Amino acid sequence: MTNDNVDIIIRGAGLSGISLLLALIEQGYSGSVLVVEKRAEPETQKTWCFWGEENLSSSLRHLIKRRWFSWSFSGDGQEYHHCTQSSEHAYCCLQAEDFYQYAFEKLKGLPTIEWLWNTDSELIDTVDANANNVELALKGRRVSASFGFDSACGISLPEGNTINQYFVGAWVKTSPQSFNAKKVALMSNMTADESCFEFTYILPFNSDYALIELTRFSMRDESLADMQSACEDIVNSGDYGNDVVIKKWEKGVLPMDTRIAPVKVGNWNCIGARGSMIRASSGYAFLTIQRWAQKTAQSLCSENKLSLAKPISPIYSALDFLFLKVMRKNMALSPTLFSSMAKNVNAVVFARFMTEKATFSDVLSIIKAMPIRPFVKALFTPEH
Ligand SMILES: Cc1cc2nc3c(=O)[nH]c(=O)nc-3n(C[C@H](O)[C@H](O)[C@H](O)COP(=O)(O)OP(=O)(O)OC[C@H]3O[C@@H](n4cnc5c(N)ncnc54)[C@H](O)[C@@H]3O)c2cc1C
Repeated sequence: MTNDNVDIIIRGAGLSGISLLLALIEQGYSGSVLVVEKRAEPETQKTWCFWGEENLSSSLRHLIKRRWFSWSFSGDGQEYHHCTQSSEHAYCCLQAEDFYQYAFEKLKGLPTIEWLWNTDSELIDTVDANANNVELALKGRRVSASFGFDSACGISLPEGNTINQYFVGAWVKTSPQSFNAKKVALMSNMTADESCFEFTYILPFNSDYALIELTRFSMRDESLADMQSACEDIVNSGDYGNDVVIKKWEKGVLPMDTRIAPVKVGNWNCIGARGSMIRASSGYAFLTIQRWAQKTAQSLCSENKLSLAKPISPIYSALDFLFLKVMRKNMALSPTLFSSMAKNVNAVVFARFMTEKATFSDVLSIIKAMPIRPFVKALFTPEH
């Protein structure tokens, strides 16, 4: 067993780990970093979307593959459209494979970074009250560091009902003009029963190439295999012509609950989707992770300490908590909640709210857009 010491250990070479590393290097960090990843290579079957080009650091903006200035919601025979003129509120998307390719180009060969792929590791529970020190056990090696970031931490679930977001998406090639390439169908065909809210998300890259994704916010255990069959049925329904070829799939399960807590081991910092950087009411985490990475790199580079700012401001956590409590109490109401938001709030307010940049009056208009009774009831009744 050898004992080593580095300045920073990053466990998990996914979005949060690599975003932090990129931000550190871009901001001139000169300490030593060990990256430990259990996979042999990064997971590239992901597309990350967010609102507002300017919300992304300028060094990553060239990776944005598509921007849309219009998105829609539909269900129960009603359709609502949001349009914006400005890139500040546009819906943007970048692909994981482009992100990782750019990152590895930037980071490869740097003498201060050691990469361990395909490597199992174990966090060691050492608490040093006066410092941030962490320890990691690897095969035949024990490494300590001044700071440790773990995107693979365990999470503790609340008792009783909790909602997960399940999604299975097919990237499809169709005959030309099958999609309106200028508009994202953010939530189409919204339906719900007492434990599951379902909709289809359509991200059209071109008029003949799009992601068609079946999404469920559900309190049941959903089977991704069954959802894949259901998604295939949607793809082959004839709505997108008869010439549809599925090119690839992307899928996932994300927790939607502000009460989920990361399980902290020693001084390890839980990061990413498992480290409470996910917006509970939507499952969006990309921008939060980018902002956190920039801030953390800044404080490590300038003061060699961690930023104390919470990745998601408590006001959004409180609003998301109440919104999700209403959903848990009355899941069948979900299409009404999202339709009310779509109908009564404009694109700019919606985009600012989704990116945690809402003004006080934006927040008021979101609250006003909601049906009042279920929220008052949720505020004053306990959950079983
Ligand atoms: C298919 C998909 C699409 C998404 N789309 C969006 C979107 O459009 N917009 C948005 O805002 N958010 C989106 N999200 C949510 C979120 O942005 C992503 O989940 C994001 O990848 C989270 O980053 P992360 O670093 O927490 O996790 P990951 O990117 O998954 O990285 C975690 C890494 O840790 C590694 N790991 C796991 N266990 C260990 C271990 N024991 N030791 C070492 N390494 C380990 C994993 O292999 C992985 O590489 C999406 C999620 C998924 C799954």
